Parts: sequence; structure tokens; C-alpha cells
Amino acid sequence: MPHPVKILRTEFITPDVKRFVVDRPKGYKFVPGQATDVAIDRPGYEDQLRPFTFTCLTTARRLEFIIKIYGDHDGVTKQLGLMHAGDGLLLHEPFGAITYQGPGFFIAGGAGVTPFIAILRDLHKKDKLKGNTLLVSNHTANDVILDDELAKMLGRHFLKVFTRQHVIGFRERRIDRDTLVVLVQNFDQKFYVCGPDPFVKDISGMLLDLGARAESLVVEE
Ligand SMILES: Cc1cc2nc3c(=O)[nH]c(=O)nc-3n(C[C@H](O)[C@H](O)[C@H](O)COP(=O)(O)OP(=O)(O)OC[C@H]3O[C@@H](n4cnc5c(N)ncnc54)[C@H](O)[C@@H]3O)c2cc1C
Repeated sequence: MPHPVKILRTEFITPDVKRFVVDRPKGYKFVPGQATDVAIDRPGYEDQLRPFTFTCLTTARRLEFIIKIYGDHDGVTKQLGLMHAGDGLLLHEPFGAITYQGPGFFIAGGAGVTPFIAILRDLHKKDKLKGNTLLVSNHTANDVILDDELAKMLGRHFLKVFTRQHVIGFRERRIDRDTLVVLVQNFDQKFYVCGPDPFVKDISGMLLDLGARAESLVVEE
């Protein structure tokens, strides 16, 4: 049976990414990086399950989700974009996606950063962030999710590339082989990759080409 929860707070944290704080059902446990199927608690929507990742600490009293809203497409996230405090969601059981398996290099495309937020916040709390680097790829600087918090946590180990930054002084680029060589340097480490399927496929392929070991690649199965 799904858990009915109330939305307590919402806010847009980038032009198309919305943060939701919701009730935490009693005894509801997850590990950093896990996700759950979410439905809108409204007639006609209960069976439209969409996976989203917990971004809060495992000990948090409330659950947090950070969700990219696809406003130009009539799906569930468009509806989530219109929801407010007091509205209801249905949460299913947490399931594994990406879990932390030791220090390494995290590479996220857009909202693919959500499991890494959970993992890095957890490590930060335990004072175990050392040895980890996060590289995020976004369209523009305005699209970076939790820019300030991640910069504070990771300092020079927080790297950003922008694919559509039409501003003088910024280099527009996708993460290509050359970018990886410059930014990663050491391919003898763990790599965590999350984002849209083509992004994960591309990046994983390039990492393997550059000498990363297949068993050191952590991607969502
Ligand atoms: C394990 C897991 C965890 C996830 N965690 C998160 C998270 O924490 N935060 C987050 O933001 N996302 C997360 N996602 C992705 C998220 O589940 C999807 O973005 C969401 O399900 C989209 O739902 P939707 O109903 O709006 O779109 P759907 O109708 O399900 O469409 C899915 C995708 O297809 C595209 N699409 C389909 N049809 C059209 C169309 N006609 N026009 C334009 N585009 C179209 C959309 O761009 C969208 O990306 C996660 C996915 C997985 C598998």
C-alpha cells in the first residue's frame, strides 16, 4: 500500500526545478541515493507512478525531493509544477538506484545530480567528503541545482560545465573526451554517473576509453 503524505513546502530553485518538502511516513527508511515511485494523490493520478530520489539526509524529519518540471509536456511533472503545500502525494517503497561505494568522481547531467546530493550531504555530515569530486553539466549557470550548497561543501572539488551559456567569458561545451582528460586526470578511481540515458551512455563510454575500469563505474541499473 502506498503511503499518503502531505506536501509541506515547495519552491522553484532553478527556472524548471522544484523542491518539495513532504511528510515522512512513520518507519519509512531509505539509504542515500535511493528513490521511490511517487504518484499524485488525486483521482485519476494514483496509478501514474514516477521515480524520484530522496535528497534529504536519512535522519531528516521531513523528506525532500528535487524535481525537474517538464512544463511543455502533459506528464506528471507538469502537474507537480502546479502543486502546493497542503496537496497530497503517494509514496511507494524506496528502491536502490545508485549507492556510495567509496571515494570517487561523480558526474551528473541536469537533475541526475539528485542521488549525488543525497550521498554527498550524507558524507558531509559524517565529515567524509574527502576524495570526492562532483562534475555537473547544465544548460546555463542558472540551471545548476543547489549551486551554493555544493560549492560550500566541495570547494574546488565542485566542477561545472555549461552547454548553452550564451555569455562572454563562459566556454560552451559538452562533456567530451578532452573535457574529461582535463577535469578528471586520474582514471584509476571510482566513477558515479547519473543523468538522461544518452548522457550516462556517452560518459560511461568515454570513461572506459580513457582507462576507467568497468567495475569502478557506478551507474543506475
Ligand atoms: C531511479 C530514478 C530516479 C529519478 N529521480 C529523479 C529526481 O530525483 N528528480 C527528477 O527531476 N527526476 C528524477 N528522475 C526522472 C523522472 O522520473 C522523470 O523525469 C519523470 O518520471 C518524468 O515524468 P513525466 O510524467 O513528467 O514525463 P513522462 O511522460 O514520463 O516522460 C518522460 C520523459 O520523456 C520526455 N517526453 C515524453 N514525451 C514527451 C513529449 N511529448 N514532449 C516532450 N517531452 C516528452 C520528457 O522530457 C521526460 O524526460 C528519476 C528517474 C529514475 C529512473
